[in-house]
Amino acid sequence: MCRLLSVVVAACVVGSSLIATSAEPVFKAGAATSNITPPIGQNIVGGFAPSPSTQVHDELHARCLVLDDGQTKLALVVCDLLGISRQVSDEARKVIAERSKIPATHVLISATHTHSASSAMGQDRFRFEQMLDEYQQFVARRIADGVQRAANNLRPAEIAFGTAEAPEHVFNRRWFMQPGTVPPNPFGTADLVKMNPGAGNANLTEPAGPTDPTISFFVLREPGGKFLSVFSAYSLHYVGGVNASDISADYYGMYCDRLIQRLGAEHRDPPFVALMANGTSGDINNINFRQPRPRQKPYEQMQFVADDVAAKVYTAIGGLKFRGHVTLDARYREPIVAWRHPTDEQLEWAKKTIATGKKGTGTDLSFIYAQRTLQMNDYPTTTAVPLQALRIGDVCIGTMPCEVFCEIGLEFKRRSAVQPAFMVELNHGYFGYLPTPRQHKLGGYETWLGTNRLEADASDKLLTELVAMSEELKAAVQ
Ligand SMILES: [Zn+2]
Repeated sequence: MCRLLSVVVAACVVGSSLIATSAEPVFKAGAATSNITPPIGQNIVGGFAPSPSTQVHDELHARCLVLDDGQTKLALVVCDLLGISRQVSDEARKVIAERSKIPATHVLISATHTHSASSAMGQDRFRFEQMLDEYQQFVARRIADGVQRAANNLRPAEIAFGTAEAPEHVFNRRWFMQPGTVPPNPFGTADLVKMNPGAGNANLTEPAGPTDPTISFFVLREPGGKFLSVFSAYSLHYVGGVNASDISADYYGMYCDRLIQRLGAEHRDPPFVALMANGTSGDINNINFRQPRPRQKPYEQMQFVADDVAAKVYTAIGGLKFRGHVTLDARYREPIVAWRHPTDEQLEWAKKTIATGKKGTGTDLSFIYAQRTLQMNDYPTTTAVPLQALRIGDVCIGTMPCEVFCEIGLEFKRRSAVQPAFMVELNHGYFGYLPTPRQHKLGGYETWLGTNRLEADASDKLLTELVAMSEELKAAVQ
């Protein structure tokens, strides 16, 4: 009897180990959306003069996607926010690691850059270290909830990567102009280029940089059918054209809605979730500067862009080949980069400008930049800049926590060891605009101290690091 029992137990052990080794790992995906709309009356923060919201045109969301290759999980979150402070991302990832068991290194949390949102960058986005305010705590919690719900929705999935071209909605917004027509900057010195020179301006010569017309995207669906999620990225700053006191997710939110309609994926259980992350659009917007801009109704242009981008992605999805399994991996590093500080001359100018007082009743840019100059003087010497690279099958997503110039994203697409590749900006923090060293020399809004905060060759350092991370991801593929 005793001997018989031990034979049965041995057979069971052999049987179960056979099942474990012969079973193919199952690739899974799950998605969910958390509402992060702030209460009406909180300030809208897109412009130089924040003012309280009085209406919600469309709700703000943290859209969450979780992928699982059977061994490794990744979470990708895109929030309808102008930017997200590093502390909000850190807090959300801490809770996600505890509750959903996805390590902080494997969670991407980015902001779209809608200008019609309240601040998730603290009460003063030019102060670097701050305690989380009430709205930031709420956003962090909602992100963690969304990832947990997405993980709860995990189910067997197929995946495909695709691209679509949409060159007609992206324009470089920094321009060379006829000699003598670039106005002096708020510091009273000369720039070689002008940001947003005005549509139809007769003094334009050439744009100062390229555009990136490509929408990159992943599609997840249940085996053979039902769509689960689309994660996409396009390098367009935002569209705008809103009522000034409205909360809105801008074209990013509208694109997600249009794609859901096109795919016939409304009212699903679990829900289909579309995500549109910002690619690298620090110098790219939706204004065709060569022509005067026609007057449009609020939201008209946004709708036009959202409809067209969704239509292009939808068409491209039709031609994709899906794979039943891909492997996942992630790398996370925090290279040390110097903060910019004012020169003695700039500091003296700032003190004098503030002592003279604010000019007029409107926006006095010199006064605003004098204040920012003094704030930058109090910044520490260096900072750790969070960089992340995710590998999803053959594809690499590189990220930076800045408003990244388009040419940096194009260079990453060329240099990434894992191909194809694309970038997502405003991930895990807000460190200002990121121009290349060449663009720094040209001056303009994005290089002004305060708007720009990292040392002039920061983009070279960060890109070198990100490419090295893509090499590590490639080397780790067995
Ligand atoms: Zn911006």
